[in-house]
Amino acid sequence: MPTRKILLFIIAERKTPSERVGMKARPANFNKPLTNLLTMFRTIKLKLPYDRTIIETAKQFREACQIVSNFGFSEKTFNKNKLNKGTYREVRERIPTLPSALVQTARDQASEALKQAKLKKGIHRKSLTIRYDQRTFKFYPDSHTISLTTVAGRLVFPVAHSPLIDKYRGEYTNAQLTIDRKHQKIFIMVQVRFRDKEVEKKVEVGVTGIDRGIKNIAVLSNNQFFNSRHLRNVKGKYRYNTRKLQHAGTRSARRKLKEMSERERRFVLDTNHVIAKKIVDLPHNVFALEKLESAKMKRKKNGRKFNGKLGSWSPYQLEQFIEYQAEDAGKAVLYVDPNYTSQKCSRCGYINRNNRKGSVFHCLNCNFELHADLNASRNIEVLGKSEYFRLLSTSQSLRSDETMLTGMGEDSNKPHPSGWGS
Ligand SMILES: [Zn+2]
Repeated sequence: MPTRKILLFIIAERKTPSERVGMKARPANFNKPLTNLLTMFRTIKLKLPYDRTIIETAKQFREACQIVSNFGFSEKTFNKNKLNKGTYREVRERIPTLPSALVQTARDQASEALKQAKLKKGIHRKSLTIRYDQRTFKFYPDSHTISLTTVAGRLVFPVAHSPLIDKYRGEYTNAQLTIDRKHQKIFIMVQVRFRDKEVEKKVEVGVTGIDRGIKNIAVLSNNQFFNSRHLRNVKGKYRYNTRKLQHAGTRSARRKLKEMSERERRFVLDTNHVIAKKIVDLPHNVFALEKLESAKMKRKKNGRKFNGKLGSWSPYQLEQFIEYQAEDAGKAVLYVDPNYTSQKCSRCGYINRNNRKGSVFHCLNCNFELHADLNASRNIEVLGKSEYFRLLSTSQSLRSDETMLTGMGEDSNKPHPSGWGS
């Protein structure tokens, strides 16, 4: 059995004022179930008979796409509502036999194509395809048949046997039908969502903890640092310019101030976005963070001086970006209790507030020494691991699958702005 690893990234959460009261008694129930992580998608490719009705349906589908993309291109919009308003009547009149559910999916497909082309060029597709969703197709794995909405109504077709039919059973969410006229073949790619009961036993869990702070925006328990030097420098420049402009007090200075604050906001946004992406792109599929409140965040790190320098920078924004991007990537984020993560020795477990002196962690019990943020991230890693198992065992419905780990390890090697990652 090959070693499989799940790594947890641990983040901290801010609390509302009411939550801060009685914090110690709070149970560790702040995590969502791991359904996102433990649900897989696979695509099954199925062969259909070379059928005239399907071909005619695909031709009409393509024509509907063409009408919509012509409209979208000339009106410079890929907004689905606008496309629908502007073309629905024309499509129904010109292609009366295309069922309205397929008119809608044709519109969606055209909208996405326009968006992808950024409305820079018109779209002309020669290929014959049909997009199906849960309203327009149903797959029956036991009888190896599929029912499809066509120009002749709903029809049932046999599909050729494939071992994948039995391997991946679950919910059939959508499908893309493709016609190969040269070889006279029709295929349909059916997407299936499912869980596999066997895998959770096979998974070896590894955890990456993420400690967030002011001087270091994020420190990962895999020894990766994202420092805030660049952020601080840029923000310092903005502050200097702001002061000068405020002093000037003219109308144009006020306008410039407004522009500058917008630019600064975007800079912070981009910075957090890039860091979140670098973290989520790591070959780990669960991320664990401390659940931090902002007041503790300030106390914990380097005090007022840095908070002033970082101004509007917020660990909460970074946390949200990590969550969004993890969800998109089919990964999960877990939160752990932040108490003692910076005072506890990650080697022997001894807790003492004097273990930490600035950026140095020195255990008064076992003399272990480490960068303080790194020590904290390792404690977060351990907490994240136990939280992961707690979630796994408390929910019967949570299942993972061995296949969910394929495709991991695609680290992003894209260049990123310099200034962190010391
Ligand atoms: Zn120790």
